[in-house]
Amino acid sequence: MSLQIRLAMFYTALMGLVVVVFGWAVYARSTEILMSQVDVRLESAIKNAGNALRNQNGALITYDDTILLQLYDSNGDLLNSTDTSEAALAGKVIDPKGLSVVLDTRSRYSAELVQNDLRYKALSVPIMVDGTNVGVLQAGTSLRFVDEIRTDLLRSLVIIGLAITTISASFGYYTARSALMPLATVTQIATEITHSDDLSLRIPINRRPPDEVGELIFAFNETMDRLEHLFKGQRRFLADVSHELRTPLTVLQGNAGLMRRMKTFDAEALDSMSKEIARLTRMVEDLLLMAQAESGRLELDMAPVELDTVLLEVYQQARVLAGERKHIQILEIDQVQVMGDRDRLKQVLLNLVSNAIKYTPPDGNISLEMYKQNGNVCISVQDDGIGIHPDDLKYIFERFYRAEKSRTRFIDYDQKGFGLGLSIAYWIMMRHNGRIEVESDYGHGATFRMCLPIAPDTL
Ligand code: ADP
Repeated sequence: MSLQIRLAMFYTALMGLVVVVFGWAVYARSTEILMSQVDVRLESAIKNAGNALRNQNGALITYDDTILLQLYDSNGDLLNSTDTSEAALAGKVIDPKGLSVVLDTRSRYSAELVQNDLRYKALSVPIMVDGTNVGVLQAGTSLRFVDEIRTDLLRSLVIIGLAITTISASFGYYTARSALMPLATVTQIATEITHSDDLSLRIPINRRPPDEVGELIFAFNETMDRLEHLFKGQRRFLADVSHELRTPLTVLQGNAGLMRRMKTFDAEALDSMSKEIARLTRMVEDLLLMAQAESGRLELDMAPVELDTVLLEVYQQARVLAGERKHIQILEIDQVQVMGDRDRLKQVLLNLVSNAIKYTPPDGNISLEMYKQNGNVCISVQDDGIGIHPDDLKYIFERFYRAEKSRTRFIDYDQKGFGLGLSIAYWIMMRHNGRIEVESDYGHGATFRMCLPIAPDTL
């Protein structure tokens, strides 16, 4: 059974229950009020008749011609009866049981009775004179009027109840339908994505303000964004890796072929071959490291590390890398110890610094800064190079991600990376309970920041 039908049925059943309980309460309360009015009328008829009997020497008077009054002596014989429109009762005892009960017990008695298909209510009271029961006064009135009102009320309640239940059933059905309709679209688009392999499909959100279903669609679309991005990354990686592999392999093959033909060692060819081999080795090492880092199998040799000396070492190396045409300086440095794997932390910092050098055109400036902040130590690497486009910023730490190639044409072939450096750095920082972040003013430079908790005993 569909969710839509189940929701509609549940809604209808709930509404039906409310209607039945409410209808029953209205019916029961109305009956109670009507019957208490009958009791009041019988009481007052008996009271008036009692007064009249006392004042007018046994005359039986009723002021309400729908009430029949009868007077019996102490043997239960009928003495007097008022005229009544209820001809069916005339001449008979209104309530024989009531008469005998009152004669026996001398206390009043009231009952609902049926005689000749006529429902009526009777009240019997003893007539006491000087403590002796000299007779019984009975009043009776037909309940036809009460029954008519009750039947009418019941009919109206049933009709109104059925109408409310029917309306709420259709309302429940349409509400459930309109609420669940987008889910059908979600299913349809999800199936389309599966069948067509088109990860760019998205579900339109046209619910204002967004409700739970809108949020579900939003989350689904976000998941699709992420998946599409990952798949694109994988495809791009495959294309890039094959490309990266093809160039060195072609160079290696070409040079090997050349030397075989010439039957001699060519120093230039050998040079180029070892460069390519170095590049290939670097790539394979990066891939291996990345795979280990991502799967959590990266072994870390944790020990206290003087981070300031690491910074100084990286600075020395960076000066060589930067050459004469790029300026690198340390703005601030502090003595700080952290717990970590010295080589891995140095690798992260070296990656940030060499990126800063790589993505800064000649005459650019790179500044290093190390400072303490809320129990952490941070090293920032700031450059005034090409910067990173806002669209690229959130993906920069993802594996194989490289910003548009057109902007990095000035980088030498053997310096070009594979887009793995930052994601390796990210994982190393995560494993050290640290963080790595980036800010960039596109076209004017980028600032990378790595932060680590300071070792507790050096705080
Ligand atoms: P790569 O080995 O390609 O440099 P990384 O993971 O180290 O790989 O960097 C990923 C990408 O981030 C780079 O391809 C580059 O587009 C961008 N990037 C990294 N550092 C900087 C920087 N300082 N300035 C501008 N772009 C940068």
